Amino acid sequence: MFDNLTERLGKVLTNLRGQGRLSEENIKDTMREVRMALLEADVALPVVRDFVEQVKQKASGEAVMKSLTPGQTLIKIVNDELVKVMGEANESLDLAAQPPAVILMAGLQGSGKTTSVAKLSLWLQQQGKKKISVVSCDVYRPAAIEQLQTLAKEVNAEFIPSAGDQKPVDIARRALNEAKRSFTEVLIIDTAGRLHVDEQMMDEIKQLHQAVDPVETLFVVDSMTGQDAANTAKAFNEALPLTGVILTKADGDARGGAALSIRQITGKPIKFIGVGEKIDALEAFHPDRIASRILGMGDVLSLVEEVTRKVDQDKAAKLAKKLQKGKRFNLEDFKEQMLQMANMGGIGGLLDKLPGMGNLPDHVKNQVNDKEIGRLIAIINSMTPHERDFPAVIKGSRKRRIANGSGTQVQDVNKLLKQFTQMQKMMKKMKGGGMKKMMRGMGGNFPGGGMPPGGGGGFPF
Ligand code: GDP
Ligand code: MG
Repeated sequence: MFDNLTERLGKVLTNLRGQGRLSEENIKDTMREVRMALLEADVALPVVRDFVEQVKQKASGEAVMKSLTPGQTLIKIVNDELVKVMGEANESLDLAAQPPAVILMAGLQGSGKTTSVAKLSLWLQQQGKKKISVVSCDVYRPAAIEQLQTLAKEVNAEFIPSAGDQKPVDIARRALNEAKRSFTEVLIIDTAGRLHVDEQMMDEIKQLHQAVDPVETLFVVDSMTGQDAANTAKAFNEALPLTGVILTKADGDARGGAALSIRQITGKPIKFIGVGEKIDALEAFHPDRIASRILGMGDVLSLVEEVTRKVDQDKAAKLAKKLQKGKRFNLEDFKEQMLQMANMGGIGGLLDKLPGMGNLPDHVKNQVNDKEIGRLIAIINSMTPHERDFPAVIKGSRKRRIANGSGTQVQDVNKLLKQFTQMQKMMKKMKGGGMKKMMRGMGGNFPGGGMPPGGGGGFPF
């Protein structure tokens, strides 16, 4: 995510770090570079202008010039300004309303509305909401209603049926009544989009808005469309009282222009970002953390949150208990940890959030992917229960047998055993905090991105 921008800004700012003093001249040079980086990231021009102007002003103050670490100070100014253009703090959903609280989704076709309905349902459940209902007003594409039905089932949301021959406004009214009757806490209304902003679509969504009076009207937009995303957001914002934005497909967006432009252009907060096709690939949008990611400083907080959310808490608690009782962490536990990591949607996504890791070239990231996890699990599967419990017995002939059984090489088995030993040591250190603490430890252990990829660290990747 935001790889290009991170790389470009990273270069500019690294140059500064070493500089003893800032002069008008090198501030000017730096800002020219920053401007280029933002334009290349497809940030909207007025936003770029404003950004550069603000940073220049703050940077040319006496305090900065005289600062002992002027480079660092300028980086901080850039960081703070990034946070500011993205909206300072996370704004979450405001669902304080007589239930059912209605959320209306708006946006162009293919932007990710239907997927986001499912992701939001899951997110709301994780926030403690029990009963979520969803309904589709997309009567133009026959598959659209079915798509929502399938997703609803996956996330355990109540699906309120609708059909292609019904009017969107009627569907929405009926769904609202049904939701009231069934004591739904949150009703999410999916709508049809078009390929471009057109009057008919705007009229329809306006009517829907009037009919159901939503507490949240969320505009869903594909971040890959760069500054166009900001312009479309502007058009929708003029037609509808939007309460927030969901920026989808941030996982594929190397530039970041949309994330940086939307708030400034519309005045509306980005509340969530979509970071993958899976239903759990939704993150609350925290401007400060994103700024930190963009500047290559990592986002350990989001990582911890993600882990807390996705880790199987029961299993983690069980392991913690076992270790607290003084029992050994064995290869079976190690395998369980890796399965959980695989569950978290791949190591690549996690790596982006570690300090300094955002800049890793893709081929390195891909090397440490889930295939590696799959191989480690295969190796453990080829061991006997005794071997899993007492890895010390795994010597020459056993190693060959295990390698053969798992279709790997003896050196792979050796590598796994080494990683396991390191992990075991770490587990001992943390006195049984399980996955959660382990991940927290991860943030603390690798300031500035000192983690060597591809093994060697305390981790199986
Ligand atoms: P709609 O027409 O607005 O309802 O869009 P859909 O929800 O049907 O999504 C269109 C496509 O975008 C689908 O293939 C989704 O899987 C994909 N998609 C949606 N959100 C994301 C995301 O955050 N990341 C990625 N990579 N794909 C997404
Ligand atoms: Mg749809």
